[in-house]
Amino acid sequence: MEAFYIPDRAYFFDRGLSFECQRCGACCMGEPGVILVTIEEIKRIAGFLKMGEENFINTCLYPVGAGYSIKEDKGGRCIFYKDGCSIYPFRPLQCRTYPFWFNNLRSEENWHAVSRECPGIGKGMTYGKEEILECIALWADFIKPG
Ligand code: SF4
Repeated sequence: MEAFYIPDRAYFFDRGLSFECQRCGACCMGEPGVILVTIEEIKRIAGFLKMGEENFINTCLYPVGAGYSIKEDKGGRCIFYKDGCSIYPFRPLQCRTYPFWFNNLRSEENWHAVSRECPGIGKGMTYGKEEILECIALWADFIKPG
């Protein structure tokens, strides 16, 4: 995995950041967007839903580039959001690494802006710098071109 951040560099989150998802769904709805899923995630989610993979792809996903995204309803809400994430244990990497995404952490200002949208920020366990860097790298690696 390509390191996206340099671990021995100083960041505003050197002492860690607190986060615990409150399952409010704010990041699962709103502006339409893509919710990317890998082939492995497709297999796992389809298995969890007891659906055949092809049926799952045709029913719940749409093609994006070389891969797939989970569908949203007309209001931009993920179709798996039903009073909370209904596939939570099998949610895709995109959801598992949120809010520790590069753009959210590239400055303290950005982080404060995200914290106004995500009530889980500032609550619960503290994620250490290394864990945060790993989330950033995992997601950045997944979406990097080529
Ligand atoms: S906005 Fe934050 S607290 Fe709400 S569901 Fe998303 S990650 Fe969890």
